[in-house]
Amino acid sequence: SAPELVSLKNSLKQRGVKYVLASFVDAHGVSRGKTVPINHLEQMMRGSELFVGAAIDGMPQGLQEEDLVAVPDPNSNIICPWNSEIAWFASDLFARGGAAEGCSRSVLKRVLGQAAGMGYRLNLGIETEFFAFPSGGMDVAFSTAKPEPTLSRRTPYYDLSDLLQNYSWLQELVEAMNDLGWDVYSFDHEAGSGQFEIDFNYTDGLKSSDRFTFFRLMAQEIAKKHDHHISFMPKPFGDRVGSGAHFNLSLTTEGGENVFFSNDDPRGQGLSPLGYQFVAGILNHAPALCAVLTPTVNSYKRLVATLPSGAPSLAPRFISYGNNRTNLLRIPLGGARVECRLPDSACNPYLAAAMLLSAGLEGIREGLDPGEPYLDDLNTYTPLDLQQKAIVPLPRTLGEAIDAFAADPLGYEVMGAPLFEAFIELKAQEWETYTQHISAWEIQRYLSFF
Ligand code: GLU
Ligand code: MG
Ligand code: MG
Repeated sequence: SAPELVSLKNSLKQRGVKYVLASFVDAHGVSRGKTVPINHLEQMMRGSELFVGAAIDGMPQGLQEEDLVAVPDPNSNIICPWNSEIAWFASDLFARGGAAEGCSRSVLKRVLGQAAGMGYRLNLGIETEFFAFPSGGMDVAFSTAKPEPTLSRRTPYYDLSDLLQNYSWLQELVEAMNDLGWDVYSFDHEAGSGQFEIDFNYTDGLKSSDRFTFFRLMAQEIAKKHDHHISFMPKPFGDRVGSGAHFNLSLTTEGGENVFFSNDDPRGQGLSPLGYQFVAGILNHAPALCAVLTPTVNSYKRLVATLPSGAPSLAPRFISYGNNRTNLLRIPLGGARVECRLPDSACNPYLAAAMLLSAGLEGIREGLDPGEPYLDDLNTYTPLDLQQKAIVPLPRTLGEAIDAFAADPLGYEVMGAPLFEAFIELKAQEWETYTQHISAWEIQRYLSFF
């Protein structure tokens, strides 16, 4: 209402805010938006900010169509911790007559509404993995002489010396997250040299997706102040693990009771029959989910068994669930939630959450069962073991994933036909560009060999 907007404006002004951002994401999940001086906050909140749909990646819009309108969600407001003159708002995109067909956030809201119709709420915790480079380190990536960025030294999983070396930006970032009420519970140096992870508490599906989106922006801005660059590219180094963004999912009743928990699970995982149905729904759609959860050409280079050194990649390769990290879905100790290990840090969290939730709800509606969990390291299975146990591999490339996505009704049920088609077109174009690129590896291997 008008008085609420005036009081929001005054309170932001009192806290030193000069500009407000109407922010939304494109189909990649990358933030876009417009900056509005605080005096125009009321107009912005009523939808003054207009965008050319045809200029936004993955937006099913033509140039002949009217502009899209960003409508900021007042509940999503964050004063940017790295610059308190700027306040951020997650926004929904509207076209005449309702939510814009290409609005990822609206897609998630729609599926959350379907869950609510069945009596469930989604809790979501997204783990963040990313690489940090001292300034200049990323430039090396673009030089032809050295196709991959390098770091001065190798540091292992849980390394403390590199963590302490990066303490200045890490602690500012963690403190910022805690000041925002995100409740960081741990951060560490991950398995790749220069790779970090900061974990914060789960919350409802929409808020978690907003936070993950804002996190990618904030981490980069805060690191910059300390002469570091952060990248959420899934697999920047061939000889290091990639950056996953594990989605931890559970459903509660309206009253907040976790319906995935059971203390008399005959399979010993702490999961209820409903939880197993949810698992089965996701496994059923796993190949199609890849196009959204692991959405880049580069994503598939993360999904390997081991690194050239023989170290485990800790990323999934098969359509499986169980209690260990080689599974696509892991039931962590204690049960009550499902960790989907497939998504990587480059995913669009709104579309990823919408697809996962929708697949899981289908499993519940159809009363599916995923069979027995895998308790072994799946990477020790021989091809014959895999055949006899009927374990199916995930798509090996973005091309395979797009084909699976295009062949599965889940995509258009979740996204609607226009976004479904625009998403396929966007990704197919990315894949086509890649397949027609001749890499240095090929030249080195074949040019003088044949
Ligand atoms: N970096 C691993 C991945 O690509 C995950 C490591 C972990 O379990 O935290 O998913
Ligand atoms: Mg991790
Ligand atoms: Mg995890």
